[in-house]
Amino acid sequence: MLRLLMVGVVVGGVLLAGGGCAARARTEPAPAWEVVGTSVRGAPIVATTIEAPGGALPARLLLVGGIHGNEPEGLAAVDPIVRMLVAEAPGVRVRIIRDLNPDGTAARTRGNARGVDLNRNFPASNFTPARQRGASALSEPESAVLAREIESFGADVVVVFHSIGRGPFVNFDGPGEGLARAFAAAAGETDARWHVVASMGYPTPGSLGTFVGVDRGVPILTVEFRRGQARDEVVAAGVAGVRAVARLMAAREIGPAGGPGVSPAGGGP
Ligand SMILES: [Zn+2]
Repeated sequence: MLRLLMVGVVVGGVLLAGGGCAARARTEPAPAWEVVGTSVRGAPIVATTIEAPGGALPARLLLVGGIHGNEPEGLAAVDPIVRMLVAEAPGVRVRIIRDLNPDGTAARTRGNARGVDLNRNFPASNFTPARQRGASALSEPESAVLAREIESFGADVVVVFHSIGRGPFVNFDGPGEGLARAFAAAAGETDARWHVVASMGYPTPGSLGTFVGVDRGVPILTVEFRRGQARDEVVAAGVAGVRAVARLMAAREIGPAGGPGVSPAGGGP
């Protein structure tokens, strides 16, 4: 509560001279990014954690800024989301992987440097090997990084940024409809086109949505910005949507006390 009051003072712009609390909130350090793996071509994959203040066993939100290299729109929202989370401290622990597919981003390709669609390379119950899905689940270093992160962080909710021509909308797998509606409603305050789509309308063997949402029953949101959407629109919608998801997680006590989560002991890839 003290923390919330401190943030309120700063956001309100009323800085009291010599006010230690306000000064502390203003100087909250940005979290450091750490290298958690490397791509096929050796590019670093980086992640950071924004800790929840105070509370024991906070809900855990895992956010991925991008997984398809030709869908870089969401990457623009990552740093603004970090700043929002640090400033507002919504009461959840957030792990952010900036870009799971740096080789694809550099080359503007959907897949990684070997042409594998990382979002078809997870050990989901419907994985089948194929040239563009990999010879085996987690055959790619990038997807293996994310699987390790999911296990070690123990995510209660996963959010992944994509883009698509018919966006912007939010798709979900597992028990994620309420969270998807919260994201879309908040993003919709910035852009009325945002809505929820229950099914992508095509099969997604080996997808993260199936692996996390369907197989494990952990809510996962596939956030589809509109392909080519303006950066300021992406930032506004992404910040608003993640804020709404985090607040709902905190309010509902989704997490260790309120849901199954992806337990580190919950069966590895
Ligand atoms: Zn995508």
